[in-house]
Amino acid sequence: MSLNKSIIGINVKPRQKLLIVSSLLVYYTLMESRAIVLLSGGQDSATCLAIAANEYTNIHCVCFDYGQRHQIEIESSKQLAKLAGATFQCVDLRFMSGLSNSALIHADQPIVEAPGELPSTFVPGRNALFLTVAAMIAYQKQSDVIYTGVCQTDFSGYPDCREAFVSSQQATINLAMETDIQIKTPLMHLTKAQTVIKMNELGRLDWYKETHTCYEGTRPACGKCPACHLRLKGFRDANIADPLAYQSET
Ligand SMILES: [Zn+2]
Repeated sequence: MSLNKSIIGINVKPRQKLLIVSSLLVYYTLMESRAIVLLSGGQDSATCLAIAANEYTNIHCVCFDYGQRHQIEIESSKQLAKLAGATFQCVDLRFMSGLSNSALIHADQPIVEAPGELPSTFVPGRNALFLTVAAMIAYQKQSDVIYTGVCQTDFSGYPDCREAFVSSQQATINLAMETDIQIKTPLMHLTKAQTVIKMNELGRLDWYKETHTCYEGTRPACGKCPACHLRLKGFRDANIADPLAYQSET
């Protein structure tokens, strides 16, 4: 066989051959490298996982137990990782409950969303800590990409969901660890409806059955709380049915 022939028998020039081989190498390197995906058990993190699974075959999912109101988030995260065929780890950060009186951690605190104020569910420093811990895991697992489903379009008052914060945190992490880790936020500028449409396009709509959004933390979801309302509105706007079970939809 001539040196200028490829393994599939098509005549190619040496330069073309080099290009094909290097492209294949880049492709396989990308597919084989590991991505870290942060999961919260919610709709956005499920979509983020589906996007990552479309780009990487080797995925390690990370969720955090920070004493959140609904432990169902951890179970949902575990189920989502299973659906994606990914490895799973839940990191114990329960010490956070002693550092914040957020309603997201303390069930005795009311959920309040007053105009011009941060919601009572805000946990100061939460995403900064989560991304730092994720970067420590990425370092240990020799991964250079972290996916997180934060979104500033439906920005509910959380400053650590903004693009400016994520890009600053990425720079900080890389300065701290002398790495080149990229924090990917594929949902940053999507509306809830666009997120649902994206999931549908990826053929993973059924993964939403395992997600958790409801403030009440019930299964089936209550269908009445602000979180359920926001979620259902996204599906209605996308003209796609939510596969999640609801007690009632009002
Ligand atoms: Zn609800």
